[in-house]
Amino acid sequence: MKAIRGATTFEIDCAEQIRGCVKELLDEIIKQNSVKMTDIIYILFSNTSDLHSFYPAKAAREAGYSNCALFSALEPEIDGALKKCIRVMLLINGDFSPKHVYLRGAKALRKDISGKYNIAIDGPAGSGKSTVCKKIAEKLDILCLDTGAMYRACALKCIEADADIQNAAEVSNALKSAKIEVKYENGCQRTLLNGIDVTDKIRTPQISMSASTVSAHPEVRSKMVELQRQIAKEHTCILDGRDIGSNVLPNAEFKFFLTAKAEVRAQRRSAELKQKGVNQAYESVLKEIIARDEQDRTRKTAPLIQAADAILIDNSDMNIEQTVEYILNKIQEKI
Ligand code: C5P
Repeated sequence: MKAIRGATTFEIDCAEQIRGCVKELLDEIIKQNSVKMTDIIYILFSNTSDLHSFYPAKAAREAGYSNCALFSALEPEIDGALKKCIRVMLLINGDFSPKHVYLRGAKALRKDISGKYNIAIDGPAGSGKSTVCKKIAEKLDILCLDTGAMYRACALKCIEADADIQNAAEVSNALKSAKIEVKYENGCQRTLLNGIDVTDKIRTPQISMSASTVSAHPEVRSKMVELQRQIAKEHTCILDGRDIGSNVLPNAEFKFFLTAKAEVRAQRRSAELKQKGVNQAYESVLKEIIARDEQDRTRKTAPLIQAADAILIDNSDMNIEQTVEYILNKIQEKI
């Protein structure tokens, strides 16, 4: 006898969806393990407390799994747990190597057996990308790659080398001796320039604007994009940038384009700067944000653009938690 585990998620709490999700999960377990319905001794279901419409056990019986014992149970409410989730355990006659099956949003529960995926989050400055990405990465227990930090480190190197950042040749020359790396400490990205941690040093308004100028040079982009693709190839990660969905990872499994009204983004950026002890008038922050967006949108190489298959989110009237929740729900619907 063997025990097999599985889980899936539903999108809307209605009988039709619960029937569909349960049938899909059980059929997939049967298929992947090459066993027969009649070999099943029992099926135990548990579900999160946001399921009210239909018993998973009843859905199994209706789907033809009626020769075994069936049971549904309610799970305790755990903070941060995956929502709208149905878990299952089957006891099956036979001697085989069990394949556990995780479908839809439940893939996030067992990334070890569910395969690698990448999430691209693009958008203009101040749209909340970096905070949102960090929170999603934490929830899904995946890496978060802030690609802007790489261009910021390039800008810092150019400034330190006294290069004219508008001049492609001078920028290229300055970056010849620049080694940009990212590493992770307790899940947080640290950005290194020639082995020195510059994570905090690159967060100034001057570097923001210079990064935008430096990042427009094709040679800079191709170097950074290569590094980004390498990291994305090796890890399941969420990448925050301007051209991730459109250029860096056109085949990313999930793509979002996050934006908000310029005034709202400037307000957020002002508050952020104030918190860091930087006193910059709101009008000047707004001017800078508009100028930087314009430069990022109109550059020739890989401009800031919404990929055709990215989900657009205007979060002008949403807070960070609402944005995170919205994106997580969209991811769960699809995986
Ligand atoms: O996201 P962040 O504000 O840190 O990015 C700094 C600058 O780096 C952006 O204004 C943009 O010009 C550039 N950038 C880019 N492509 C990315 C990420 C950032 O061109 N993928």
